[in-house]
Amino acid sequence: MQQQNQTRHIVILPGDGIGPEIMAQAEAVLNRVNEQHRLGLSWEHQLLGGAAIDATGKPLPEQTLAAAQKAGAVLLGAVGGPRWDQIERSIRPERGLLAIRSALGLFANLRPAILYPQLAEASTLRPEVVSGLDLLIVRELTGGIYFGQPRGVRVLESGEREGFNTDVYRESEIRRIARVAFDLARLRNRRVLSVDKANVLEVTELWREIVTDEAKNYPDVTLSHMYVDNAAMQLVRAPKQFDVLVTGNLFGDILSDEAAMLTGSIGMLPSASLDATGKGLYEPCHGSAPDIAGQDKANPLATILSVAMMLRYTFKEDLAAQSIENAVAKVLDAGLRTADIASAGTKLAGTKVMGQAVVDALA
Ligand code: NAD
Repeated sequence: MQQQNQTRHIVILPGDGIGPEIMAQAEAVLNRVNEQHRLGLSWEHQLLGGAAIDATGKPLPEQTLAAAQKAGAVLLGAVGGPRWDQIERSIRPERGLLAIRSALGLFANLRPAILYPQLAEASTLRPEVVSGLDLLIVRELTGGIYFGQPRGVRVLESGEREGFNTDVYRESEIRRIARVAFDLARLRNRRVLSVDKANVLEVTELWREIVTDEAKNYPDVTLSHMYVDNAAMQLVRAPKQFDVLVTGNLFGDILSDEAAMLTGSIGMLPSASLDATGKGLYEPCHGSAPDIAGQDKANPLATILSVAMMLRYTFKEDLAAQSIENAVAKVLDAGLRTADIASAGTKLAGTKVMGQAVVDALA
């Protein structure tokens, strides 16, 4: 995040399931802010995931990767679905996503969990526990057990099969993600909580040691540590105690979905995955929701808010980012809700109506 990325070209990957529906709305929002704020951004569409498998046989075609490598940012809908669940594991849609994150060196996944006060009732927790929640989970994305070797399923001498994976982190990988968390904490409330399982796993014992060492470079930021089981519990008990949480790939995956639910709907949460230069891949936290795909039911706000994150973190266009966030708040104030965040007394809207309402609110 140190150097500024130069290109103002974006690669859009609508993906599968609800991906194309929510992306159409996000693109309309992007189009409007691009004009209004004269951002000079351009974009193109490419294939990823199941859509790419259908067209080319591969979840991450070379053409997509080449375009993404040249672009300043990538905007993604979601990939995957039951249609592709039976094909060989190494070419499934989700492998395309893991591969593009890895190829672009996107090691830092930022997942804010912000509870819009208008949605306090949509959370399964009591409003006083979650209202005003504003935390940021920084998840390491290219290491740990999701990538560690060796991995596989082997047959033992007894004939029984055994599955195995390897959780592995180098000092340098821990240090660079810790730095991202400390840098971001400086833009917030200057508190970092590092989540590990250092009482059981050696790999996270090293994690704790390196994060603690890196904290010496940030004397203005308070660092604390918590075991992942306790963190999972504290997130539902008293989530407002947190500012920035930093953790590894596996724990971050689970905790960020848990944090997502605190806000009422996974359909509200954007995310960013950044490399060392600020280039990023921006996507909603949710998946391709095959159960509601093609029905105009999906909440497009997470993808629209991902556009705002992209403008802020990669293109440094804070005003434009803020205008999108304000427009979303305005639409919620007006009582408009997709089914996933609807409650008594609100107006039910489909994907298209919701997206158009945000575009109109930008005017
Ligand atoms: P999911 O996030 O797609 O869906 C979970 C639940 O949340 C579903 O009931 C769904 O209808 C609902 N939901 C999700 N997004 C929503 C939205 N925008 N608006 C309203 N409701 C929404 O997770 P899943 O069902 O575990 O996975 C479905 C597919 O998505 C799988 O193939 C999985 O591999 C893939 N997936 C992709 C990504 C990604 O592309 N980043 C992430 C997670 C899962």
